[in-house]
Amino acid sequence: MKKVSFKLITTLWITLLIAVVCGVSTTALMIISSKSADDKIKQNLVAVVQSNSDEMEYSNGIFEVENDFAYYSGGIYCDLFTENGDYISGETPKTLVESSSLGEADVVEKEFDGKNYYVYSKLLDFTKFEYEIDVMSGQIISYEADVTPINELKPTPYKETSFRNGISTSEAIEIALSHAGTGFGEASIIGVDIPLYQDRQVFKIEFTAESSSYENVYIRAVCPSDEAVTVFDSVAKSAAYLLPFFVMAAAVGAYLISRKSVSTIEKITESAHEISTGNDLSKRLETSNAPREISNLAETFNEMFERLQTSFENEKRFTSDASHELRTPLAVIKAECEYALSEHADDEERLQALESVEEQTDKMSALVSALLVVTRAEHGQNRFALEKGSLSELTEEICTGFVPTKNIELIKDIEKNIEINLNVSLITQLIENLLSNADKYGRENGKINVKLYSEGDKAVLSVRDNGIGISSENLPKIWNRFYRADASRSQVQGFGLGLALVKKIAEIHSAECVARSEIGEFTEILIVFNK
Ligand code: ADP
Repeated sequence: MKKVSFKLITTLWITLLIAVVCGVSTTALMIISSKSADDKIKQNLVAVVQSNSDEMEYSNGIFEVENDFAYYSGGIYCDLFTENGDYISGETPKTLVESSSLGEADVVEKEFDGKNYYVYSKLLDFTKFEYEIDVMSGQIISYEADVTPINELKPTPYKETSFRNGISTSEAIEIALSHAGTGFGEASIIGVDIPLYQDRQVFKIEFTAESSSYENVYIRAVCPSDEAVTVFDSVAKSAAYLLPFFVMAAAVGAYLISRKSVSTIEKITESAHEISTGNDLSKRLETSNAPREISNLAETFNEMFERLQTSFENEKRFTSDASHELRTPLAVIKAECEYALSEHADDEERLQALESVEEQTDKMSALVSALLVVTRAEHGQNRFALEKGSLSELTEEICTGFVPTKNIELIKDIEKNIEINLNVSLITQLIENLLSNADKYGRENGKINVKLYSEGDKAVLSVRDNGIGISSENLPKIWNRFYRADASRSQVQGFGLGLALVKKIAEIHSAECVARSEIGEFTEILIVFNK
């Protein structure tokens, strides 16, 4: 199956997500806006009726609609009807002139001629009366009836006053009430004032009461209910224009971001491919311009290449050294065999040739065994089991069994009861290798000092000889496989694997190896174990 590109997945996913988020939020916005547009229209209807009702009064017996009365305002038509539903005035188109919608308490939706409208109506009571009566003659100077809602007016107490040769406050109230056509008992006096009116003193009387002589009026506001739909439509339209733009922007953004990250990964893949196919493990990936996460990845790759390179180089050197070491005895065996098989060789010489072949075979066998041990130790082929054991006893035992050559004296100084986690056969190999080196590179009638002692939580094993020593230049190299100092090559037998194996065994025991030496003076190898 073809793998889908990361760029494509990211771009598609983000685009889809933005489209869904935009779609859902636009729908929610449209629903909310249409609801609030609907509410707003209803509020406007009520407000228009309210403000128009303030523009109406009944003055001096005449019903007046003031100039500021708005028959049409902001899409809302306002009409006046009698209480019986007879049309008085208005600018509403004829089709809407119908009184059936009068008298509803709230805004209602009605259908006129196949179209829906919101309708709100209010019956106006002319129940606030205002009379001005001449104090001296008792004549009514002026009167008005207002539509101000009664519950907004607070009755105030008044003082009984009378003027010389004039009427009293209560007489003035009676005149006003009888003119308004209502009884004193049913009226609620709002206030009595005695201002100066055209140089004459007047009673100004305000009261509220049920009127029997004035006909009440309906004020009705109408507006198409699809106004809200229009708002809804315009929001929907803007959303419809904007949505593709947002989605496009999201798609382009997602593509650019993913391309940027992917391009760095692609570069890394390319370089990694070049390194793996070009067999050049010394090349490294470029990490400087990459984003943090990717440069971390590249650095990890570089570390891996570094380790691979070291390991490959070690392997190469190991193979070439091993084959070099094996070639010499093989060449000798071949030559000896050829000679033994030739006509010129007598029995004595054939015997010598056979002995030489045996010697070279032993040498090769020893080399192959040593190689096998080193390789196993290096690759952890055998998971070596470590057990608590006495290093003191083991060292003592090996030293006792060791027979030095060249009249060398072995001096032991072994602290008792030092226990560590150890593998007996490996540690035996380690100590034997160190003793064998001290003996091989020691001087005639020389000394080998073997010490084992505790130092804090460490156990230190030291093998020291007073032999040929190692130059400071060569000292770090002695742990490498197949390394042999030139002097040793010519004089002493060996493969250069002994100390490499010591190092591996020490590593398996989490121990540290230290070498100290002075040419012509001494060599001391220290193995520091954890107790
Ligand atoms: P081998 O002894 O088989 O050559 P080793 O790995 O044991 O290999 O030692 C590596 C080299 O280190 C030796 O060839 C020798 O040059 C040097 N070396 C090791 N031990 C001593 C020692 N005690 N004194 C002097 N040189 C030593």
